[in-house]
Amino acid sequence: MTADGKSLLVTGGSRGIGAAVSRLAARQGWRVAVNYVRDQDAAGRVVAEIEQAGGEAFAVQGDVGSEADVLSMFEAVDKRFGGLDGLVNNAGVVDVASRVDEMSLQRIERMLRINVTGSILCAREAVRRMSTRHGGNGGAIVNLSSAAATLGSPGLYVDYAAAKGAVDVFTLGLAKEVAAEGIRVNAVRPGIIDTEIHASGGEPDRVAQMRDMLPMKREGTADEVAEAVIWLLSDASSYTTGSVVSVTGGR
Ligand code: NAP
Repeated sequence: MTADGKSLLVTGGSRGIGAAVSRLAARQGWRVAVNYVRDQDAAGRVVAEIEQAGGEAFAVQGDVGSEADVLSMFEAVDKRFGGLDGLVNNAGVVDVASRVDEMSLQRIERMLRINVTGSILCAREAVRRMSTRHGGNGGAIVNLSSAAATLGSPGLYVDYAAAKGAVDVFTLGLAKEVAAEGIRVNAVRPGIIDTEIHASGGEPDRVAQMRDMLPMKREGTADEVAEAVIWLLSDASSYTTGSVVSVTGGR
């Protein structure tokens, strides 16, 4: 236990990588706000698991792409924890495989709203609470990027890749902006990880299809990504900011 009761908000903490981060953070002593947008049962299961293991957590509903939802989500965290020490901007979406010349405006706007605007809005609220400039005690923000940001994802979801590229640059800029205010900002760049995100993009077999093309000949697990996120949240990475850590198995 290293976090010693510090408080953490994990967006999209109910499933996949976010759920793994929430569980591991709780084991390290973080009090965890587990955000979800739709699947209340999944969020409830993560909270129950944490509580059964002796940790503290609560579920908080909200769409990171809605400013009103983001504000109420952070107010719920204020009320429950009385402060904030960490944010994991994990909530993210893909969409069905598509070429750019086939994309609707609605799809592109949703992709950018949830993956980019959502991360920036949540970071804004976290900085307002954690920055020493605003009377806070400092803290750490970890954004979930993607190997797509370096590969471009042609024919699949170039809009998603562009959104994650924006997350990388946002990480770099915000890290420098708040470095002297006690806040570190880093990103984790997962490769092919075994979660339900692939099915939600209409590619339930993507992991199996990609396996043999990956350098390690296997996909990664949500737990392996969570280890990097937790390190970046912790004091063990105290001189690391503005970094993007790849968890891609060499891809
Ligand atoms: P996932 O299994 O599909 O889980 C997504 C989580 O985000 C769920 O908890 C979901 O909540 C939540 N969510 C979705 N839209 C939301 C919104 N608008 N507001 C709040 N929460 C929302 O995804 P994952 O694979 O764990 O991915 C997590 C992050 O890693 C994403 O940013 C993704 O882009 C990134 N990533 C994943 C991979 C991979 O291979 N899996 C690779 C690279 C990057 P509900 O349960 O309520 O739907």
